Amino acid sequence: MTYKQALQKSIDDLSVELVNIAKKIFRYKEIAYKEYRSAKELSDFLERKGFQVSKNVAGLETAFVAKYGSTPPHVALLAEYDALPGLGHACGHNLIGTISVGAAVALKESGILEHRGTISVVGSPAEEAGGGKVALLRHGVFDDVDVAMMIHPASMTTGFDIAYAIDEFKVEYFGKASHAASAPEKGVNALDAMINAFVGIGLLRQQLPENVRIHGIITNGGQASNIIPEYTKAEIGVRALERKELDKVVEKFKAVLKGAAKSTGCRLKITKQTSLDNVKVNAPLAQALESNFRSVGETVVKRTYEQGVGSTDMGNVTQKVPGIHAYINITNSENIPAHTRKFAMACNSDYAYSAMLRAAKALGMTCLDVIEDGDLLMKIKTYFKGEN
Ligand SMILES: [Zn+2]
Repeated sequence: MTYKQALQKSIDDLSVELVNIAKKIFRYKEIAYKEYRSAKELSDFLERKGFQVSKNVAGLETAFVAKYGSTPPHVALLAEYDALPGLGHACGHNLIGTISVGAAVALKESGILEHRGTISVVGSPAEEAGGGKVALLRHGVFDDVDVAMMIHPASMTTGFDIAYAIDEFKVEYFGKASHAASAPEKGVNALDAMINAFVGIGLLRQQLPENVRIHGIITNGGQASNIIPEYTKAEIGVRALERKELDKVVEKFKAVLKGAAKSTGCRLKITKQTSLDNVKVNAPLAQALESNFRSVGETVVKRTYEQGVGSTDMGNVTQKVPGIHAYINITNSENIPAHTRKFAMACNSDYAYSAMLRAAKALGMTCLDVIEDGDLLMKIKTYFKGEN
């Protein structure tokens, strides 16, 4: 039996257990940084299968790293498991963690790691809010990693991705309260500043390049209708397909915010919150995965902007090490957007669980390609350097 055959047989043998884990995580629907039971489900399974598990990584209670092997190359598989408030697993992260864990255990059971290679499963909390991978990167989790991979559920199967770089800001204006009827002239209106800012952003959109997004909400619009607002607050995200372009757009965005402060006499405070990079797809790695996708019966499509584009903290990982953020079709023939109740239902269907097992096979076999095929690894590294 070849390593690839052994790996596929191992996924078949583990299938009942893996589906059970994914179903439990679906039911737990724990949100960002609260994924206690979900992380435990995955890390306990890895521990039982002989992996060395470190918990509380980077000071995050629901992060873990599970490792097996001690020789190069070192492949990391990312496991996400957080749900969305109110919607549950409407992004299918119950499947992501299980795909990576299944692939890692099957890789170990194929026997290759007794001779060559190291596998880590990086349990990454809070993809939906907070960006847990950014903290894990800062903590050095990926410093000795050669290749990082993950597969996300979607309505299509592809090894490639397009994702926005995003900077999220907290924007605050400070004015001066006054009676809105008896002494309005003594007030400095922080809501005027905020409205000017949103109007300015709306006008700025005319002069922005294609495929740039600015979106936000006012979370504090004042204190009472008979008081001139002394304080307002908004949360605003700015996105572009490349970090360099994003930086330019953010400068213009800040100029609009400053102009609104000046014209109203308010003080402005801008606080940068989450900052995620665009996904840098490693093409040779994505092609290797696509060929493994085909070998397990998946129809692979081209990733296009029109399919819809978001942001992910995996972007930051792919800027640091060669990596991919791939997709598996879990909806069969229907096109269902993520972050909807319908997508959540699809993520708990028999079809999704069978797709999850095919994804685990394809991902595990791609780990084998990276470990066994020195030429491929060289191509992956050369490609990564060329892109930098
Ligand atoms: Zn997601």
